[in-house]
Amino acid sequence: MISLNPPTSNLLNVNQFHQFPPPTLRHHLPIQSRSVNAAVQSSGVTCGGGAGSGFLTAIGRAIEEEEYRKARAEVHKKSIDLDGYSVQGLSIGGHETCIIVPELKTAFDIGRCPAKAVHQNFLFITHAHLDHIGGLPMYIATRGLYSLKPPTVFVPPSIMGDVEQLINIHRTMGQVELNIDLVALDVGETYEMRNDLVVRPFRTHHVITSRGYVVYSVRKKLRKQYAHLKGKQIEKLKKSGVEITDTILCPEVAFTGDTTSDFYLDPHSADALRAKILITEATFLDESVSVEHAREHGHTHIDEIMENAQWIRNKTVVLTHFSSRYHLEDIRQAVSKLQSKVSAKVMSLTEGFKSMHS
Ligand SMILES: [Zn+2]
Ligand SMILES: [Zn+2]
Repeated sequence: MISLNPPTSNLLNVNQFHQFPPPTLRHHLPIQSRSVNAAVQSSGVTCGGGAGSGFLTAIGRAIEEEEYRKARAEVHKKSIDLDGYSVQGLSIGGHETCIIVPELKTAFDIGRCPAKAVHQNFLFITHAHLDHIGGLPMYIATRGLYSLKPPTVFVPPSIMGDVEQLINIHRTMGQVELNIDLVALDVGETYEMRNDLVVRPFRTHHVITSRGYVVYSVRKKLRKQYAHLKGKQIEKLKKSGVEITDTILCPEVAFTGDTTSDFYLDPHSADALRAKILITEATFLDESVSVEHAREHGHTHIDEIMENAQWIRNKTVVLTHFSSRYHLEDIRQAVSKLQSKVSAKVMSLTEGFKSMHS
């Protein structure tokens, strides 16, 4: 652990979550034109004013408004509330990823440094690509600025030395002390975040060394052989020093970061694939990018998730890391395609998503 000098005022630039959509959203969302046309056609309504005028009828306009309201509500959604957890943050492939679960005081990856991430005590870095680690120095500095306790930052052991060096360079350049508890956590190791919460990394399959993380709740369960005993007898046994409970780890939230679909076939992914919430990537969503291309770049194509749907035992799957080549409507369609294949609830994290087309 390293301590920190009072930070200087030039550290005050705290990044905010990106505001999205821009005021011109309405003109950028393809959802309207496509779905309105489909709806108008299916209801047999034709446009007035003669063929080819392009003028929508009152019904058409009403549908358009409704679609617009729905799309706007979707992009404005600040968090996904699931099983007692609210999954927040933003993720755009190659640009930035930071997923926040406030109930766990946790952020996964920090491509830039969204304001909400600063208040999370634990930060889990999956790999060293800049869209996942670029915001680390600002995260540490901003916590110091707010006099928050030093964060505990987990990194794959292979990058531990480089991360230490990076922070040292910032200390030297900025004449500040950056306060951080840096932990190299390897696959097979367990770290106790709270007495009822632990984390374990698991192997993922990217173009550089990478790790995913599963956060488990720790529960005590009365051992089977004592199940028939009454309260007083159990109490007596306990007082005599007999271990009457088993400790059970329940996978709550899993985050893969960037990975190919080999993640679904790796036996070490078992806990991630049965966590209540799986937050994973679906960088590519349609035939404009092949599965081979996705694999070459260490990413997952939505078609591969569909093919591996049988391995998904989660209650909810949150898709992230979409390429900016896509529109929100492409994401919506991909989610509903996958939803038809799995019993898990499929959602997408689109807050702050910026399409390169908008
Ligand atoms: Zn990435
Ligand atoms: Zn990456």
